[in-house]
Amino acid sequence: MTALLRAEGLHVSYGRVDAVRGVSLAVEAGRIVTVIGPNGAGKTTLLAALMGLLPSRGTVTYDGADLARFEVEDRVERGLCLVPEARELFGDMSVADNLLLGAYPFRRERGFRAKLDDVYARFPRLAERRGQTASTLSGGERQMLALGRALMMRPRLLMLDEPSLGLAPLIVREIFRIIMGLRELGVSILLVEQNARAALESADYGYVLETGEISLHGPAAELLHDPRVTATYLGGA
Ligand code: ATP
Repeated sequence: MTALLRAEGLHVSYGRVDAVRGVSLAVEAGRIVTVIGPNGAGKTTLLAALMGLLPSRGTVTYDGADLARFEVEDRVERGLCLVPEARELFGDMSVADNLLLGAYPFRRERGFRAKLDDVYARFPRLAERRGQTASTLSGGERQMLALGRALMMRPRLLMLDEPSLGLAPLIVREIFRIIMGLRELGVSILLVEQNARAALESADYGYVLETGEISLHGPAAELLHDPRVTATYLGGA
């Protein structure tokens, strides 16, 4: 199968700190690929570099093209979309306005309104709260709004930075169900998580990132039972 995104020998440094050191990974079209690893392993840095928000060395190809040629805006236009850990909603604005702003570049295109209806159909809780201010939403609803806003941008590759962060276990399960539903839509997903179990249970393939390097990778179902993963990331289960 051809990969939608392939990184080879990716390096990212903050001055003298090498945060990502020679990472190679691939996301096949229509798959959920997860990168798990502890705090400070370089997960956020990796996503920021793929999005073009940080300079990097190495090669990244996306849809057959070398990404180095593309600015962030070009990457967005080609369907690369990052949902950052902080979710970065417009707190004083309503749910509806957050969704509309997310799709601002596409506002003149046909099907724009239909896209909004699609998002409301997928997230009934957002539809019920469309007039509510974003800052008054619960943590889970905020994550749904961040995902909904990303969907408004018609992503082909959705990069999610710790979507489960700070959420109660039941809500985490709901968010992961939603993410798996996005795969059914044909969206490819690169999911960065500290919640290794939830991530591996949802993903097709997984990578373990430790101090900037991939220490292990394989089909997610195999990693779930790999003693090196269970001992360190799944509480020995
Ligand atoms: P977390 O799960 O805690 O967010 P992470 O795996 O996403 O961790 P990163 O945030 O990518 O890890 O950080 C990787 C390394 O780079 C860490 O050692 C961190 O201290 C360092 N780092 C991150 N951002 C900067 C920065 N702006 N300047 C300098 N060092 C940074």
